[in-house]
Amino acid sequence: MQGIVYKSTGSWYTVKSEEGDFYNCRIKGKFRIKGIKSTNPIAVGDLVTFSLEKNGDEEVGIISEIKDRKNYIIRKSVNLSKQTHIIAANLDQVFLLVTLNNPVTYTSFIDRFLVTAEAYAIPAILLFNKSDTYSKEEKEEVSSLVKLYRKIGYQCIELSAKKGENVQEVKTLMKDKISMFSGNSGVGKSTLVNVIEKNLMLKTAEISEQHLQGQHTTTFAEMYDLSFGAKIIDTPGIRGFGIVDMENDEIGDYFPELFALKGFCKFNDCLHVDEPKCAVKEALDNDKIAWSRYRSYLQMILGEDENYRVDIYKS
Ligand code: GDP
Ligand code: ZN
Repeated sequence: MQGIVYKSTGSWYTVKSEEGDFYNCRIKGKFRIKGIKSTNPIAVGDLVTFSLEKNGDEEVGIISEIKDRKNYIIRKSVNLSKQTHIIAANLDQVFLLVTLNNPVTYTSFIDRFLVTAEAYAIPAILLFNKSDTYSKEEKEEVSSLVKLYRKIGYQCIELSAKKGENVQEVKTLMKDKISMFSGNSGVGKSTLVNVIEKNLMLKTAEISEQHLQGQHTTTFAEMYDLSFGAKIIDTPGIRGFGIVDMENDEIGDYFPELFALKGFCKFNDCLHVDEPKCAVKEALDNDKIAWSRYRSYLQMILGEDENYRVDIYKS
């Protein structure tokens, strides 16, 4: 039988078959996936082949195969072992909720997120939430951000989760797809999910409160079917994407507007910092590339370099 993993608790997996039935499944024997060394061989979103076996009165599924993943997102443990944990696989898209204020979402945060999404090969969509709270000036600021990111090729939606404004657009994009919502704490993820689907209580909020109390909880992602034919992956305790290990000379590839200029600089290995005859610098001077994007790029390749540390690093 074929199915898709909805939940994992470490050794047991909840798999939904193509017929729509849920089975408790496990893995028999050693199971290795080429290329990735992770603490968990199978993650939420994985497509698997399994067969049923009697276990007393119960039927359990034995997973024998996992289909190639089109993408997956990981988290590295913070302890010394630095082990990789696969959070979820086969995402169709990820939404990043952004708010100008309460809380402030810095462009450096947005850009890091987008770079990570590009590196993971997951389409990202920006949702500018809390549109009901903005002053005239703030509305203009949101508009210019929307313009900036649309020009690069990212879909943007201005919405108010609280008032339900433009939520339908988000639902339309979600139909028949597997989505994930990210964003800083307080941007309105739970509120949005609750207006999208009533009575779906995600663990996101609950877990973060436990974190505040200093408890340590192992967090496992879980997939949910929504009533209008969408799937959502909830990743308790994970606000963003984590950091992907990237070499300096590949970061530019994940900024679409920089990637578009690849090959146009004088030097093939130009990092667009202070090299002569740099096409990126030229594009900046001609307002073809946004300074905020370039600043985010510099932060990512130069890291903590004092000369380039900018106050937007706070996010
Ligand atoms: P989360 O931490 O991302 O899940 O954020 P929540 O959904 O818990 O929202 C944080 C706060 O922002 C709550 O007080 C919400 O009522 C409020 N909020 C969320 N979306 C909107 C919105 O569109 N407009 C306004 N005014 N408040 C919102
Ligand atoms: Zn260059």
